[in-house]
Amino acid sequence: MSSFKAVMVTKDEAGAQHVAWSTLSENDLMDGDVVVRVSHSTINYKDGLVLSAKSAVPRKFPMIAGIDFAGVVESSSHPNFKSGDAVLLNGYGLSETHYGGYAEKARVKGDWLVKIPSGMSAHDVMAIGTAGYTAMLSVLALEKHGLKPSDGAAIVTGAAGGVGSVAIALLKKAGWHVIASTGRVEEADYLKKLGAAEIIDRKELSEPGRPLGKERWVAGIDSVGSHTLANVLAQTKAHGAIAACGLAQGMDLPTSVAPFILRGVALLGIDSVMCPMALRLEAWKRLASDLDHSLLASMTKTIPFNTVIETAATILKGQIRGRVVVEM
Ligand code: NDP
Repeated sequence: MSSFKAVMVTKDEAGAQHVAWSTLSENDLMDGDVVVRVSHSTINYKDGLVLSAKSAVPRKFPMIAGIDFAGVVESSSHPNFKSGDAVLLNGYGLSETHYGGYAEKARVKGDWLVKIPSGMSAHDVMAIGTAGYTAMLSVLALEKHGLKPSDGAAIVTGAAGGVGSVAIALLKKAGWHVIASTGRVEEADYLKKLGAAEIIDRKELSEPGRPLGKERWVAGIDSVGSHTLANVLAQTKAHGAIAACGLAQGMDLPTSVAPFILRGVALLGIDSVMCPMALRLEAWKRLASDLDHSLLASMTKTIPFNTVIETAATILKGQIRGRVVVEM
């Protein structure tokens, strides 16, 4: 493949960003010690932000969009990778400071790559993508905090989204009673199939609330932020914990210290982008063993690469259910 297609974000002299298709050659790629022929990518919320051409996510221009990719190594001078290896990459500044996954080829640091776990395909790992891997990091954080299903229920906010859908399936598999908070109550059957035991309307949590409320759950995975996270914290059982990973409602957190100092509730921050390699490998190992393939398939839609720009726009409107795989 001498030339290949990529989705690029550029910035003009007036500071306005533009998203367009480009044709590139391998010489145009950024530095790295491994070249990958990309076969699949995915659409996460952050990809929607980048393709909206209004975000602060890209910090260098021009930039190839896409925070994830999976594919096959074409050439490598990194000791851990050789031609033909099946690999995946999540984050590490892709589409921020390093060319991302919305391209048929990528050149990256081998230190950022993860070998695709055996039993999984490039399609499977992009069905999981950063969203699903972040859900797994959140479950691991709750477990490392010492919480277990016998302590109480677990809430998942943004339940019908990418992080939320995978989080429900993983928590259910680990034995939790899962409460799913969604604005799409018409998706109740979908959420129950993934493993939700109860569905609540997100309106219950999205308005300004009291500093402390009735204790309803002991654990949670929140991809929404803002008043929702504040209310989730206020209704967490004593000595419970909430993993905070997203901002779909807002980046603010209008809470008080009450849940922390009166109930010993912990707020666990989740960062997938610069997550250390040892934890990434632990997360991917657990995803390979715990995430049911048929459930993953039921929450995933596959689209061709040439429709990625218009499809990504719909994620910011909360219109994508579950996960989207982009096939090159
Ligand atoms: P999705 O768009 O797939 O899911 C977000 C969900 O949040 C929506 O489906 C919707 O769920 C809910 N939602 C949307 N808007 C609002 C709103 N205004 N108020 C309340 N709920 C809302 O995105 P992802 O799952 O890919 O990402 C979710 C969040 O997690 C994003 O903010 C993303 O940036 C963040 N993230 C963070 C990572 C990290 O490293 N910390 C990594 C990956 C993602 P429903 O319809 O069920 O209500």
